[in-house]
Amino acid sequence: MMSTKMRQLRFWGDLASAQWGRAAPFKLTYIVTDECSCRCAICSLWQQPRPGAVIDEIERLFAANPQLSWINLSGGDVVERADFEAIVAAAVRHTRVFVLDFPTAGQHPERVEAAVRAVLALPLPRLVVTVSIDGPPELHDRLRGRDGAFERARETLTRLRALRSARFEVFAGLTFSSRNDARPAALVDATLEHLPGVPREHLHFNVAHHAPHYYRNRAGDVPDRQRITAFLRDEAHRRRSHASPFALRWLEATYWQLALDYLDRGISPLPCSALRSSVFVDPELRVYPCATWDHPLARLQQVDYSLTRALERPDARAAAADARALRCPNCWTPCEAFPTILSQLPRAAARASRARDEHANSDPVPDVHGG
Ligand code: SF4
Ligand code: SF4
Repeated sequence: MMSTKMRQLRFWGDLASAQWGRAAPFKLTYIVTDECSCRCAICSLWQQPRPGAVIDEIERLFAANPQLSWINLSGGDVVERADFEAIVAAAVRHTRVFVLDFPTAGQHPERVEAAVRAVLALPLPRLVVTVSIDGPPELHDRLRGRDGAFERARETLTRLRALRSARFEVFAGLTFSSRNDARPAALVDATLEHLPGVPREHLHFNVAHHAPHYYRNRAGDVPDRQRITAFLRDEAHRRRSHASPFALRWLEATYWQLALDYLDRGISPLPCSALRSSVFVDPELRVYPCATWDHPLARLQQVDYSLTRALERPDARAAAADARALRCPNCWTPCEAFPTILSQLPRAAARASRARDEHANSDPVPDVHGG
């Protein structure tokens, strides 16, 4: 198995070669199951969940794609799979993964803690977990469709925070949707009041997108752009600079500068690197450009589980060109936005700087309390 140092060097090498374009994506988003304990109104996965591929097939997926250096496992909720630890072990064994991250709804605190402890026993250099929390208890339980959902998620967050280390980071993740976007700043303040000990900068934000093939949700679930833009502009001043390395702070700041740009114009702020730097695979091992674009490509079973072979096909090449030209639904979700930034650093830095200037010079957006 590859050493930690070598995984790190290869990851930086991936980022460097991505600046000039590359043959095979280094970032995989893989939905291991649709199963989930929550019953969210903005998601239909739980209504007809697909259990996901069997472990033998998942072994073949990772064995056929040793070039992967960043793996996002998602769901549903990944810990609904009893073999989740075996999935991660297969990823570490067969690929040169340097960073692995996954979100969880945190509804099984003991199970999540056990999974994280098992993953940390593997020679994986970096693990990042996000526990989803969409508001204070009463609102969160309503949005998640489960009484006690907030308390269980809070307990999971507390257990995981006790395990934080140089290799392991955990965040709370708040997704803004049309159901909690009336007063974003007040929502964040109220949520943090119920998460004692969690610093503001450890609460990450996401913006619900319309993802018909993934969440199978409605276009009406996305939040009000103007409210979120106004909130994000002010929020930057409320947060203390956190202790992460400079590169991570720069990446996060760039992502949010460009998110303001996206929320303003509804157009992705950079040529998208989906299918060149990143790729999305659903529970039945069907390849897509991303979570947002309902554009199915090959099933991995048809190409010996090789992403490289899947992406060499003419339909995938055409889709990659379309993504780059933004002939797609357009989005700015972290799963694809971070690889997009990382694979064109000079352009991203210039675009973020321009966006910062434009927003500094624009009229203030009024605080909106409706909804
Ligand atoms: S949005 Fe997430 S937590 Fe809610 S039902 Fe869907 S997968 Fe589960
Ligand atoms: S910009 Fe287009 S191709 Fe890229 S992630 Fe968004 S929807 Fe997918």
